[in-house]
Amino acid sequence: MAGHAAKTPVCVLGLGLIGGSVLRAAAAAGRVAFGYNRSADGVNAAITDGFDATAELDTVLQRAAETGALIVLAVPVPALPTLLDHVRRLAPNCPLTDVTSVKSAVLDDVTAAGLAEKFVGGHPMAGTAHSGWPAGHAELFVGAPWVISVDDHVDPTVFAAVLDLILDCGSVAVPARSEEHDAAAAAISHLPHLLAEALAVTAADVPLAFALAAGSFRDGTRVAGTAPDLVRAMCEANAPQLVPTLDRAMELLAAARESLTADGSVAELANTGHAARTRYDNFPRNEIVTVVVGEEDWRRELAAAGRAGGVIRSALPVRDSR
Ligand code: NAD
Repeated sequence: MAGHAAKTPVCVLGLGLIGGSVLRAAAAAGRVAFGYNRSADGVNAAITDGFDATAELDTVLQRAAETGALIVLAVPVPALPTLLDHVRRLAPNCPLTDVTSVKSAVLDDVTAAGLAEKFVGGHPMAGTAHSGWPAGHAELFVGAPWVISVDDHVDPTVFAAVLDLILDCGSVAVPARSEEHDAAAAAISHLPHLLAEALAVTAADVPLAFALAAGSFRDGTRVAGTAPDLVRAMCEANAPQLVPTLDRAMELLAAARESLTADGSVAELANTGHAARTRYDNFPRNEIVTVVVGEEDWRRELAAAGRAGGVIRSALPVRDSR
C-alpha cells in the first residue's frame, strides 16, 4: 500500500478487556478494525456496540492477509500456540504484535511458530480488575506507557507499524528488550502480587488485624484482590525472572529480621527502602526524538533510552535498510 494515505488495518484476536479496547481505539483513530473472539457472547456484544467482530478465526485471518492488516494477539499466554498456528497457515506475511504481560515466553512461542520476522512484541501498562468485552473502552490506554520490543530480530517497518498503533491508542511507547521487560515486570508487578498475597494471609492470622486495618494494609494488599488465575498466569509465565527477584526480596527481609532480632533495628531496610522510593519519585521521563528507526544500532539506542526513562510520544523517522 505504498503511497496510500490510509492507515494499516488492525485485526485483533481476542476481544476481552485489552483486545476489545484496542479494537475500539483503532476504530476511533479512523482505522479499518476488525476482530475475532472465541465466545459468541463477546462477538455479539462487540457487534451490538457497532464493531466488526466474528467467531470465525479462519475468515478473520484470510481477511487480515488480504488487507495486510496488523494482527494483534490479545489472548492469555496458554492460548497463543494454537492461535499462532492459524496465523502461520493463513496470514504469515502480516505484521504481528501482542499485548501480553510477559515478553520472552511469547517471543519463544512466536519464534517456534516461525513468525518472528514479522513480530514486534508489545505490552500496554494499563488495565483494570475486570475482564471481557464489556470491561473495555477506547480510552483505556490514554497516557499509559506501552512497551514496544526492540529485540535483535525486530524489523524497522513492523516496528513503525506497531508504534503507530500504540500512538493511535493514546499511549506513550517505552522501547525495551523482552528479557529486560520481564525482569522489570517481575520487580514492579509480579513480586508486588506475591507480597500482597503474603501480607493478606499474614494479617488474616491475627485476630484483631482486620478490625484495625487502614491505609497501609489497603494499599499493600490491593492487588491481592486480583483473580487468582490471572495472578498465576502472570507469575508462572515469568518464573525465570520472578525467582531471582523473590530471592532478592527474601534476602532483604531475612537481613531485616536478623538485625531486628540481634540489635532491635530495622534501620538498614528502612533507609535503603526510603532512598529507593525517593529515586523512583524523581525518575525522569524524557521524550525520545533523535533515534532513526532502521539506522545502525537503532535497537540498542532505543533500549538504552527506554532504560533511562525515555518515551516515544510521536512517530520516529524510519529508514528501511531493505
Ligand atoms: P480478558 O479475559 O478480558 O480477555 C481474554 C480474551 O482471550 C477473551 O477474548 C477470551 O475469549 C480469549 N481467550 C481466552 N482463551 C482463549 C483460547 N484458548 N482461544 C482463543 N481465545 C481465548 O483478558 P485481558 O485482560 O484482555 O487479557 C488479554 C491479554 O492482555 C493477556 O495476555 C494479558 O496478559 C494482557 N494484559 C492484561 C492486562 C490487564 O490488566 N488485564 C494488562 C496488560 C496486558
